[in-house]
Amino acid sequence: MPKISVGTYVQGSGSGSGSSMDEIRNPLSVWRNTVRVRPNEYAVIKFMGEGGDLSRYHNIPGMTRDGARFTKYEYCARLNLGTEGQQVREDSCTFCVSADDAISNTTERFLAWAFHYGTFHSAQNPRLDRDGQEPWDEIRRGQKMFYRETVRKPQLFQASFTLYKNLESKREMMDSLTDRNFDYSCMRVTDRTTYSLDYSDTSLTNDYASEIQAVERDLPDIESIAAKLITEIDVPQFGEDGKDSYRMNSQTPQQVANEESAFTNMTASQTKDEEIND
Ligand SMILES: [Zn+2]
Repeated sequence: MPKISVGTYVQGSGSGSGSSMDEIRNPLSVWRNTVRVRPNEYAVIKFMGEGGDLSRYHNIPGMTRDGARFTKYEYCARLNLGTEGQQVREDSCTFCVSADDAISNTTERFLAWAFHYGTFHSAQNPRLDRDGQEPWDEIRRGQKMFYRETVRKPQLFQASFTLYKNLESKREMMDSLTDRNFDYSCMRVTDRTTYSLDYSDTSLTNDYASEIQAVERDLPDIESIAAKLITEIDVPQFGEDGKDSYRMNSQTPQQVANEESAFTNMTASQTKDEEIND
């Protein structure tokens, strides 16, 4: 079985530099590797492990070029502390000193690793004119037609504190969050967009349970991602049949093979060092 090169990542400064446009364009950005659903869509996910990160964020209001409002969540460097009471990130927080209460106040948000099987969209792939894009499968569910995008990758799942509490109450009723799959859906009623998590009844030909377990322990640290100490991640996409068919997002099979032989050499020399030390 090939080595699963999970979660190679880029260390950031923690200052959260880089514009939103860069985040959207860069296929390795945390933004691009986060499960996102729009109104009347849902994603099928499985939580990877029981853990997650709960941190405080400032809510920064923003507006897109066509006038739609959105909120950007900025990690608070001052209030988020590690297990020994020290700041997770060493810089000072510029949002805490804002004169605008709406910005200086913080709310808690949840971040966790989830395996994203795919998303049921309400419309066909809008990027079909671009290279490498494929049409999504048309699937009828009940009275509705959906377009199924297959993802099969570990991705980040983020939730408001309300949705997190909802998840916690589900956790209390189950032995483990990882026993079941969830539908993560979005609804827009009048002017309010709400997100919810429900037990999924989507049947999967392969749930990749053992592959997910193998990958789980090697994923980059979730708290470091929340703190933007890790800004880029490279996660594997699972092949159709699961076993032995992982493919890196951005590396050719040759690059992966080179990396694997480099890893083997490194392991060999490390073993030698240990013998010397003994
Ligand atoms: Zn702050």
